Amino acid sequence: MANQEPTDPSHALFDLFVTAESCRDVQQHFSALCEQLQVDPKDYRVFYSKLKERLNYWKAKDLWKEIDKRASHKDYQQRKACAENKCLVLGAGPCGLRAAVELALLGAQVLVVEKRASFSRNNVLHLWPYTIYDLRGLGAKKLYGRLCTGTLDHISIRQLQLILLKVALVLGVEVLTAVEFQGLEEPSGDKGWTAKLHPNPHPTLAFEFDVFISAGGGSFLPDGFKQKELRATLAIGITANFTNRHTAAEAQVAEISGVARIYNQKFFHDLLTQTGIDLENIVYYKDDTHYFVMTAKKESLLKKGVIKQDYSDAEQLLARENVDHDALWRYAYEAANFSTNRQLPELEFATNPAGRPDVAMFDFTCMHRAEHASLVRERRGKKLLMGLVGDSLVEPFWPLGTGIARGFFAAFDTAWMVRSWGLGIPCLQVLAERESIYQLLSQTDPGNTKNNYTSYSIRPSTRYRHVNLSAIQVHQVQHLYHICLPH
Ligand code: FAD
Repeated sequence: MANQEPTDPSHALFDLFVTAESCRDVQQHFSALCEQLQVDPKDYRVFYSKLKERLNYWKAKDLWKEIDKRASHKDYQQRKACAENKCLVLGAGPCGLRAAVELALLGAQVLVVEKRASFSRNNVLHLWPYTIYDLRGLGAKKLYGRLCTGTLDHISIRQLQLILLKVALVLGVEVLTAVEFQGLEEPSGDKGWTAKLHPNPHPTLAFEFDVFISAGGGSFLPDGFKQKELRATLAIGITANFTNRHTAAEAQVAEISGVARIYNQKFFHDLLTQTGIDLENIVYYKDDTHYFVMTAKKESLLKKGVIKQDYSDAEQLLARENVDHDALWRYAYEAANFSTNRQLPELEFATNPAGRPDVAMFDFTCMHRAEHASLVRERRGKKLLMGLVGDSLVEPFWPLGTGIARGFFAAFDTAWMVRSWGLGIPCLQVLAERESIYQLLSQTDPGNTKNNYTSYSIRPSTRYRHVNLSAIQVHQVQHLYHICLPH
């Protein structure tokens, strides 16, 4: 049965949608499928049930089974909890999409805007056990069979985005790519809160919303939010991706789930004496690509000619004009070759969207964390709830692999906040509760969160071991409620 070609055109289109490997293909096959079945995704309230009703295909039913199980959770109140809310999500990174899925499950109308035209990040993320469980519960295995097979617990950023994009579309989320968010437009006349988008996809009828979720990554912070900066000693990271041809020889080479200098001094000593490369740690994952990430010492980068001139300021040090890219590629290549005992045959760089070797050098000396996770703005009697998720809220420290785990927690916590908003809980109480939960986020790790993943939901007490929803009181969040009275 599994090998038979479907004869029904909608079944063939569903297969194309499920197996699509680029953001554009996912969107195109999804539109074609909707057209074929005559279901309109704009009809978000009934879209998913109509899709299910009209697509009578065993492969689709396998997916519906998973999604239905998730959607039937009592917290979503049969997708009615936020049925009157309209949400704009900025950013189709993993955390923005994960949040969008939860908002759709709560019954809200959701629009995601993403400035990039494609999902092109090859870098591979280590996933905590609960995130794998969470993704499986959304039907991810039906959308990407290779998800965390065997003992492997990693996935490329682009594959993660593709899975979540597919789930979001099925749930009636509208996703606009190649559209940049440029700011909020305050209500005027009868019009509510809208966004300045470029290019403007709705020239005549702007999308009005009462919830704005910002998931624009580490370098984006919307107006009204402040960040704290955490500075450490200089730390220079290098990522490199090589083409994976999936040959038997490649399959033999062992992954390195993380070797740090303090645990394997001989390895780093040999690396230095044989190649002149001086590292603090290195990770190698075999995924869509052969992915390496390492922390390099500045002196060795200078000696090997990767960094041209020494500066004390990290920005100047790693500025494009101060880096010799050929030398950087050689450095990454040698480190990858050495750490896999030169067993990977034909090491050839995968390319980035610019068509150049996919090697990047970045500084993670300084990390940011938002001072607060939420706020409410009110203009002309129209309220807007704003929340941050993902790297925009707390920038992760990559060697700990906390990005997705804490990012998804923040997406759930934010969805919980929007649920309270949708249920009409007073603004200040919604904010106080959100800030109470936010206090816990930076300390979460697999050891201090609940280990019964089956009962995880957007309800914070299902995930955090000790959560006090009134740790922060209403009077402490008054500054997060910005009212502007008309003149
Ligand atoms: P992003 O993935 O940055 O997505 C933000 C999106 O918003 C982007 O697509 C961007 O184009 C879009 N955007 C920004 N501004 C706008 C705008 N104005 N309008 C429209 N769209 C906009 N995490 C792990 O969990 N495990 C790991 O092993 C791990 N390893 C890492 C290794 C390295 C070297 C690095 C740098 C990070 C690592 N991380 C890891 C962290 C992980 O990559 C991030 O936590 C994760 O990608 C954050 O997702 P996000 O959705 O918050 O942001």
